[in-house]
This record gives sequence, C-alpha cells and structure tokens, in this order.
Amino acid sequence: MADAASRTGRTYFTGPLLEWCDQVHAPHDEALQRAYDAPTAAGMPPIHVAPSEGKLLELLLRMVGAKKVVELGTLAGYSAIRMARALPEGGKVWSIEFDERHAEVARTSIARAGLSGTIEVCVGRGVDVLPTLEAHGPFCAVFIDADKESYDVYGRWAAAHVRQGGLLLGDNSFFFANLLHDTPVAAAMRRFHEEARAVFETVNVPTPDGLLVGVKR
Ligand code: SAH
Ligand code: MG
Repeated sequence: MADAASRTGRTYFTGPLLEWCDQVHAPHDEALQRAYDAPTAAGMPPIHVAPSEGKLLELLLRMVGAKKVVELGTLAGYSAIRMARALPEGGKVWSIEFDERHAEVARTSIARAGLSGTIEVCVGRGVDVLPTLEAHGPFCAVFIDADKESYDVYGRWAAAHVRQGGLLLGDNSFFFANLLHDTPVAAAMRRFHEEARAVFETVNVPTPDGLLVGVKR
C-alpha cells in the first residue's frame, strides 16, 4: 500500500499501527480498493489520500449535509468516490483533472463503483474549469488536491462559491514539509492558509501531510 507519510519524510503513524486503524475505521469494499490500486496498476503516481483521510472527507461532508461538491485533482477517483458516498440522492461531485489519462482511469473506477451519475470528471486545468461550474453553485464543499502553486487561487474561488456553513478542504497543507520554505510555491500555500482563515473558521488537521479544514462563516 502506498504510504502517504513516507512521501513526506515523516516516519511515525505508519506501518502496522495505521493499517490496523484503517482496517477498523476505514475499510475498503471492492470498488474503493479498485480505485485505490488503480494508479499503481495504470502506471500513475499513487498520490491519492490515505484511507483514513478519505473516510474523514466522507464524514465531514455528511456532517454538513453536503449535496454539491467540487474537487480539484481527480487522479483515479478514490477521494471522489469517498465523497460521493456521503451525498444524498441527487447530490453531485464535479471533479477536475487536467490529465486525460488520469480522467479516463478515474471514469472506469467511478463506473465500477456505480457512481457515474453522481461524479462528473471535468477535464481541464483547474483555473479554466472552475469558472464553467459557477452556475451550479453555491457549493457545499470544495476539496483542493491538485497543483500546489494554485492553492491560493483555488481557495479564493472556494471563498466566493461555498455556501455559509460549507467546507473548504485542502490536502497537503504542510506542502510535503516545505510549507515554510522560501519558494514561490510555498508562499502560495501560506497565502492559501492565511486567506482561508479570513473567510472560513479554519484548522490545520495534522494528517501526515496536513489537511486544512474550514467552515464558511
Ligand atoms: N484527489 C485524488 C488525488 C489527486 S492527485 C485522490 O485523493 O484520490 C493530484 C491530481 O491533480 C493529479 O491527477 C494531477 O494530474 C492533477 N492536476 C495537477 N495539476 C492540475 C491542474 N492544474 N488542474 C487540474 N488537475 C491538476
Ligand atoms: Mg494530496
């Protein structure tokens, strides 16, 4: 199993301890396991959220009664499937992915999970696709998990298009342990944190690479 923590250079909460907790609280059925394994099987990077973070996304969406969700970064559809399972009948996830092959693999995972009517994979760059979704808003949650240099832009979009009480969710908010580095991308990620705090009630959940959670005021 790909290990999120090992990608960040952090070595605790991994291995048997984390796997035991995942088994107890965030087990995979066949469709989830297929989506989880799909990147490796298809020669794509296995950079999806870990099982516990996927389950957390699912629970957070349930808690706010989410119906309409936007995701940036589909990969093979693992997090999209988790989130779609939190939605009531008629709910929808728009998931944005700029790599056509990733989108194709995701569509297969999503179809196998029986969620083709719930998750729409939108192919294109986040900055280009987001404006085309605005008419469907306001949204109940935006999950950001794509190119890190655009998190500040995505966060601003979420601030404008998430309903009151809705969620901003940002994966890799520790930016692979580089959040405080003196680079343009790290600066964009810090702006994402600071601007989010101005519009959402926020916390940085210390998952292996951080998950920023905000509730819109
Ligand atoms: N959320 C997924 C993992 C996403 S990995 C999960 O947990 O299951 C990040 C994805 O973002 C990759 O598939 C990558 O191709 C995509 N991506 C990178 N830059 C992008 C951009 N500018 N616009 C849209 N997608 C992008
Ligand atoms: Mg991520």
